Amino acid sequence: MSRLRVAIQKSGRLSEKSLALLQSCGLRFARSKDKLFWYGKDFPVDLLLVRDDDIPRMIMGGVCELGIVGENVANEVMLDRNGGTGLSSLRKLDFGHCRLSLAVPESSGISGADGLDGKRVATTYPALTRELLSRQGIEARIVELAGSVEIAPGLGTADAIADLVSTGTTLRANHLKEVEVLFESTAALYGTGQALPEDKQPLLDRLLARIDGVLQAQESKYVMLHAPRAALERIAEILPGAEHPTLMELEGTPDRVAVHAVCREGVFWEHLEALKGAGASAILVLPVEKMLA
Ligand code: ATP
Ligand code: ZN
Repeated sequence: MSRLRVAIQKSGRLSEKSLALLQSCGLRFARSKDKLFWYGKDFPVDLLLVRDDDIPRMIMGGVCELGIVGENVANEVMLDRNGGTGLSSLRKLDFGHCRLSLAVPESSGISGADGLDGKRVATTYPALTRELLSRQGIEARIVELAGSVEIAPGLGTADAIADLVSTGTTLRANHLKEVEVLFESTAALYGTGQALPEDKQPLLDRLLARIDGVLQAQESKYVMLHAPRAALERIAEILPGAEHPTLMELEGTPDRVAVHAVCREGVFWEHLEALKGAGASAILVLPVEKMLA
């Protein structure tokens, strides 16, 4: 029987959510402590647990068909390989948010990329940083570091850094200020972008349909309420991203009906207040666990 392999980060910022996403798709694994390989029990998809940096090349090299990794890492590898064949983003995921930003010492007069021509920029993302700067016509001298980029300006080895930021705490602790966002990144599911062999493609299609279902369900809410018949049109307008609400009779009250709807956009207190204002009562908002279109 044919199987697929998915590589995820073994331990780090993406590990837990990558595993949770696959588990939400109904995948269960026979875990082996410390081992890099978890066997898929109910669905023929196995897990490889590795360093995030290795994931793009494992996909390109055919070690696995799929991988979950930050767009920052994937783009660095694609640019490094000149042109980026053999790696393609299949689904953008809603976690691992961060930005690759330029930062300079608090005392520096540099206020953005345009002050960096000929200057030294330290980064762990040399290809991506060079590409993003040169798109703006800036040719900086890239100082490639394996880590601890934020101490480079203090050591006198760089004039600026390009590093991943999510809150900015690390920058402030090192007396650096963020001056420009070069790249916004999230985690994404990557594949080769080419059709898989006949025996594996249907498996990939099923997995992608389940992932889409999970992603849609995360955004969706099931809303139930009672409403005056006369206000139905107004209420349908207020329900965010609802298609074809279901109407049900309410015993003994001919002028009021029950309305059920799947809302595919965020349902906020403002929506509930507007619904109430339009005459709705008994409003309930429920999470949606699974969805298959
Ligand atoms: P590994 O041991 O797997 O190489 P790592 O230290 O390279 O781990 P993490 O720090 O766990 O990796 O980050 C993994 C990914 O998480 C990053 O490549 C990025 O896409 C994302 N990320 C989200 N927020 C941040 C952040 N504040 N700093 C760094 N990365 C972040
Ligand atoms: Zn890494």
